[in-house]
This record gives sequence, C-alpha cells and structure tokens, in this order.
Amino acid sequence: MTCLQAAAPRVRQVSENQCHMCMPIGAVAVFKGIENAMVLVHGSQGCSTYMRLANVEHYNEPVDIASSSLNEKQAIYGGEANLRKAMDNVIRVYQPTVLGILTTCLSETMGEDLERIVTAYVQEKNVSGVDIIPVNTPSYSGTQSEGFWAATRGIIAYYVRPTLPHRRINVIVPHISPADIREIKRILDGAGLSYTLVPDYSMTLDRPYGGRYQKIPPGGATVKEIVEMSGAPVTIQFGTTCPDTLSPGLYLEKEFGVPLVNLPLPIGLKNMDLFVETITKISGQPIPDALMLERGWLLDGMADSHKFNAEGRPVIYGEPELVYAFATLCAENGATPVVIASGTKNSLIAERLNQVIESADEKPVILEGADIAAIEESALCAGSNIAIGHSGGKSLTERHGIPLVRIGFPIHDRIGGQRILSAGYRGTLAFLDRFTNTLLETKYATYRQKIKEELCTTRGS
Ligand code: SF4
Repeated sequence: MTCLQAAAPRVRQVSENQCHMCMPIGAVAVFKGIENAMVLVHGSQGCSTYMRLANVEHYNEPVDIASSSLNEKQAIYGGEANLRKAMDNVIRVYQPTVLGILTTCLSETMGEDLERIVTAYVQEKNVSGVDIIPVNTPSYSGTQSEGFWAATRGIIAYYVRPTLPHRRINVIVPHISPADIREIKRILDGAGLSYTLVPDYSMTLDRPYGGRYQKIPPGGATVKEIVEMSGAPVTIQFGTTCPDTLSPGLYLEKEFGVPLVNLPLPIGLKNMDLFVETITKISGQPIPDALMLERGWLLDGMADSHKFNAEGRPVIYGEPELVYAFATLCAENGATPVVIASGTKNSLIAERLNQVIESADEKPVILEGADIAAIEESALCAGSNIAIGHSGGKSLTERHGIPLVRIGFPIHDRIGGQRILSAGYRGTLAFLDRFTNTLLETKYATYRQKIKEELCTTRGS
C-alpha cells in the first residue's frame, strides 16, 4: 500500500484529532488587528470559551471575546434577543468603535440572519460611534484560515470608499505571528515605504509589560487608513493560497482598480527575495544595506547547515499559506518534504507547489482536508524524521518519536507562540537553525542505538 492510499480513507471518513481550528477563531485574530475593535461570537458559551482558551494559550495575553450565550431555548425560538442584549452590554462595557459579530455552527444552523438583525438593531437604537460588522463564519464550511480571509475581506469591503490617489501601499497578511508582522513592518520601514497593513495585531496580541490594563489594548490598523485603501498605488497580499472569493486584494483590484501583487509569505530565501524585489521596484530605491547584510547571514547559515539538512524528511502541516512557505524553504535547503498537509480543503497547495514537486526525486504526499491521524499515518509510511507545524501534531513526537518544530497556530504546549519569528531573512535563519538543531539533536541521541542495531543485524546475518 502506498502512503497516499494509507492516508486517503481517513481523510474521507471521520475526522480524528483535527489539523485545523474553527472558522471564527481566524476571524477573531483579524478584529484584534483593528484599532479599538471588540469581537462578539453569536453562539453558545462553549464556542467563545474554546476560542478564548486557544488564543490565551497561544498569545499569552488576555483575549476578550464576548458571547451571545445561546442555549437550547434560543436554538428553537431564535437568538435575536440574546444578540441584541450582548451588543448592548459589549458597547456599554468596552466602548469599542468597531464591533465584529461572528456566527458559529449553531447560529448558522439555526439560520440566523445576521445582516438583518444588525441593521435593525442599529436603526432602532440609533447606534452611533461604533461600526458593527457581521461576518459569517460557519465552521463546517471552513477552517480558521478561511475565517481569517473572510473577516479581512469583510472589514475592507465594509469600510473602503473611493478616495484620491495617495502613496501609501496596502499590505495584507495571512494568519501569522505578531513577531512576523513586526518583522514585515520593519522591512517596509527600512525600505522607506509608507503602508496600511491589515490586520495588524502585532501590538494587541503581544503587549509589552507595563502600563495600566486596558479592556481593548492599543494598536491595530486604523479605520481612517482602511477607508483609504482604494487610493493606494498597489496591494501586496501574502496570500497565494487564498481563494479568489475571499481574497481582500482581489476585491480591492476589482472594485477600485488597485493592482494586486500576490506573494508567498517572505519565509525562505526565494520567497523573501521576491518580496524585496517587489518593494524595491515600488520604492525605486536600492535594497537597504541592512537587508543585504541579513541576506548574507542567511546564505552563510544555509551553507553551514546544508550537510545536515539533506538528512531531513519533513512532514509539514497547518494553514496553507504557512505550509507553502515552509515547504519551499525546506526544499531550497535540501530537505525535501515527504508529506505536505493542511486541514483546509481546496487549499491550492498542490497547484502552488508544482515547481517544488516537479524537481524532487521523491514526490511528496499532499493531503488536503486532512486530520492529524491521516498525517501521522502518511508520515510513518514515508519514513518522516521531523515535523513542522502547530501543537496539534505533538502526537507525532509522543507516539512515534518524530520531533516537532513548532510554527503556526495554535502553540498551546510551549511558551512564546506569539514571538515565533520566521519571516524575513532573519526569521528564516532563526527557523533554519531550529530545524537543523532538531535534526542534530535526534542524530546525537540515537546514533549509538543505530550502530548497535546495525551490528546486531550484521552479526545475525
Ligand atoms: S461549535 Fe462550531 S463554531 Fe463553536 S467552537 Fe465548535 S466548531 Fe467552532
């Protein structure tokens, strides 16, 4: 039986230990990246508790998520009254200027008409000073990745209006760590570009110590800048795996004629070079010296580690955009992935990875809509010796001894998920060192045992 055959039945039947999280979780992160925004989940208490827990464990910050607290009664008679009460309370207690309302499996199954409820509420209560933005996030039709794109596109579509042309470029990021957003901003600043980056949770979900506690932390993209995204000379979107229907950059291009440059995340040498090439073309300036230095350090690090990395047989899983970036990074460092997987269906990964796969001696198994059980099975079948992904795959280590290099969301069994840096030349080098050292650690921990086994085999034969 091939690895592909081994994995296929599990993918088709039941989900066992999901590789993804639910759709509204991705949307929560987006609203946390808008200035003075609060988020309310229209569903049961359980949904918002699960989302709070996942976010708090990952970001190590208080992450407030309100709930309309639906129960059995509302499931039958409708949840409008609960949602109205929840909006009253959130507006009174948090005083947000932006309020995102997200649906859940329950409210979607009940058929709640979010758009109508919100419009009626705003009109009847004569609400002012807060923009209420509903986003449909039924988890049974998408993962956190689709939820992230849907909310980003929803916010942009809600605010952007025709405006006079200006020089600020649009930058749209996928679900990455606050540290990665800060690195992308640092690179843009270094190139002398002014920009509107959406969503920007680099400060709201990773706050420095000190100061007074604020119910809504300072930071995030401002509404004023989002409104004016229509006048930007270009949109850089790190979303090569983003479906067209959810693409914020495509929306801006179609509705307002802002040219879209859709790039892979700047993780890995080639991907980062592509980003640098794009921004230098836009700015008309040479590559900043500091970046050239960082590129040189990365090349040096790649030369140092390539002899070890050739032994790596990585299994890579998680959100499509990250999986794509890390798969190309591994391939350019001699560790061609043997299993590439995402919990997202129709992730476009296979299509995007064609080039990497074509030149590989051994074709990787690509799984979409996969659970961790299917990934484990394929990893074992393919003889994988290292994993790259979120904490959901820790069973690869616990059950099968395959070490895991943690990236993505959620990281709930280690500290510092919000600080994991993989973007830029610096981030790529930091990841590469982690990856190589993980391979070396396994090598030094197991080589005596391996020699013993080989001797036994030789003597036995
Ligand atoms: S019921 Fe649906 S929305 Fe609620 S936590 Fe579960 S998957 Fe997410």
